Amino acid sequence: MNGPNGSDTSYLDYNATAPIRPEAAAAVIEAMQSVGNASSMHRPGRQAAYRVDVARQQLADLLNCSPGEIIFTSGATEANNLALRAAYTAGNPLVTTPVEHPAVLETARTVTAEQPDDLVLLPVGTDGLVDLGALDQVFAARHGGVVSLMAANNETGVLTDLRVAAKAACEAGALVHTDATQIIGRLPVDVAELDVDLLSLSAHKFGGPQGVGALYVRRGAPLPHRPLLVGGGQERGWRAGTLNVAGIIGMGAAAMAAHRGLIEEAERIASLRDRLELLLARDLPRCRFNGRRDQRLPGVTSVTFPGVPADAVLAAMPDVAASEGSACASGAPTPSHVLLAMGLSREDADSTIRFSLGYATTAAEVEHAAQAVVRAVTQVRSALAEAHGPR
Ligand code: PMP
Repeated sequence: MNGPNGSDTSYLDYNATAPIRPEAAAAVIEAMQSVGNASSMHRPGRQAAYRVDVARQQLADLLNCSPGEIIFTSGATEANNLALRAAYTAGNPLVTTPVEHPAVLETARTVTAEQPDDLVLLPVGTDGLVDLGALDQVFAARHGGVVSLMAANNETGVLTDLRVAAKAACEAGALVHTDATQIIGRLPVDVAELDVDLLSLSAHKFGGPQGVGALYVRRGAPLPHRPLLVGGGQERGWRAGTLNVAGIIGMGAAAMAAHRGLIEEAERIASLRDRLELLLARDLPRCRFNGRRDQRLPGVTSVTFPGVPADAVLAAMPDVAASEGSACASGAPTPSHVLLAMGLSREDADSTIRFSLGYATTAAEVEHAAQAVVRAVTQVRSALAEAHGPR
């Protein structure tokens, strides 16, 4: 069994970061060995600019937009900040959900700090689905503003029906932003069809390098020009700073590779995920799967092992890479805000592990991981039973 890097680890943490695709790694290395600031007028500069243009087109092909609608950023955190800080105007609603990534939630809380009534959080069901019907109530009382809904949840993989949200928002004259970080390169996304105004993405979730991403801004979207970074005027004045040429070229290569065979690959990954769930449910019948199972990303499963702390399970299986809660919050001893919003108890949230599979996951990795999880959960459970009596 070989995970990425030829290791003996089953790497099931694609939602934290995916291994870089070989095409992207080769493109990054090659670009780093060439000189050229994409803003320079001499030949090396123009060559760099040309290669950035190619990458912009590759990303645009993946999203079905035009290259002029893309602003390169340092990742999805920056794209989310840029989108919400530009789209929100005090006195207007900023509608989002309690299950967003902190890059949206914290930005939303920060920008509305002076006018807390502007921040509206839509209800979320125990299955992780956002109650989009509540948008009608919000817009019955108010008009305009911005609606920001994640396309796919990073912890459960649960999907949001953006078309429904976009329709309601559009009728109310609100802009629509989606944090699409977890869906891009994993399921087909067509921005024209979704009818969103703004979309954030990050290269490292689909096999590109870390530290690079983009914000899609629909041409004609009535977005006030409020850049986060001002300076040399790059990216049409939306994001000043020398372009990360190697990162952008790597993201373009990853976008192209992810685009190829996207649907077949999603089916393959979903069947590996289903196999993992089947093995866990067979050998650990008390485990519970979180989130709406028929409306989620192909590669994600969030599993609660009641009474068995996730950190102890993860420590007992060092050859399986998976996450408790979201990786961005790891290190912090707070339970997952996503699972709590779905109504899990604190104890159950602390007993939950997220497994996320991706383009390089193999059947052997899944079989190995399932055995390791069963062994680790059984071991932790018996150690606890010995210490405290049976649970
Ligand atoms: N949004 C979501 C849904 C994410 O999963 C992540 C990464 N964990 C981010 C935003 C932040 O992305 P980045 O690492 O590019 O800043």
